[in-house]
Amino acid sequence: MIDFHCHIDLYSNPVTLVDQIVQKGVYVLAVTTTPKAWRGTNAVVGNSKRIRVGLGLHPELVAQRHSEVDLLCSLVPEARYVGEVGLDGSTPHRASLALQEEVLRKVLLACTSYGGRILSLHSRGAVSSLLGLLTAHPLAGVPVLHWFAGTPRELQRASAMGCWFSVGPAMLRGQKGRELVAAMPRDRVLTETDGPFARKGKDPLMPWDVIDAESTLADVWELPVEQVRATVLANFRRLAVTGPQADPESG
Ligand SMILES: [Zn+2]
Repeated sequence: MIDFHCHIDLYSNPVTLVDQIVQKGVYVLAVTTTPKAWRGTNAVVGNSKRIRVGLGLHPELVAQRHSEVDLLCSLVPEARYVGEVGLDGSTPHRASLALQEEVLRKVLLACTSYGGRILSLHSRGAVSSLLGLLTAHPLAGVPVLHWFAGTPRELQRASAMGCWFSVGPAMLRGQKGRELVAAMPRDRVLTETDGPFARKGKDPLMPWDVIDAESTLADVWELPVEQVRATVLANFRRLAVTGPQADPESG
């Protein structure tokens, strides 16, 4: 199983969670919301082979923490995965959109100058602007759009640009999410939870709850769950093997 977008450091007990992830054999991309959390999260993860840590600065935090973009850029040489970064144009965050764009531009430039990175991107309410920035920085790496909620037309544009998608149980609960995933290129789909923000009832989704996303995919793709899991795993391996690499001497 693969949880390609999970905030391990924000669960109540990250150390126990890492043990459980290892025990269950889930591959996890542990994204961070601020670059200050990157080293600490790496320390918690230790050398667990299946867990990687993304270097992030969440767009919802940019209004308060935009100055941390310099720290993020200075850590890019050490990071293979960059996320969670992106844009949020929803009502509470629209006011900082110009600042968010400026921050994301810096992040994409830094990624470009180090040969590209694998990016986990937030795009709520700002898909067009995000795709515009990605188009302007074609060598920033491989964009993986997490919890995509744009229009079918925006999805088409993102697919044509070569974007990947990570989809989770919360996104796939509604008809809109299911219709979007049906139109995504199957060979560029990964699973995620976005836990602990995304929930299952009153509890946060756990990385192994991607099983719920797998069963929705099985439904939509009309395939057995085992085949869905194998497809997602093959996608993930292809991304990990052929995607941009970090500097050989670092993480
Ligand atoms: Zn997230």
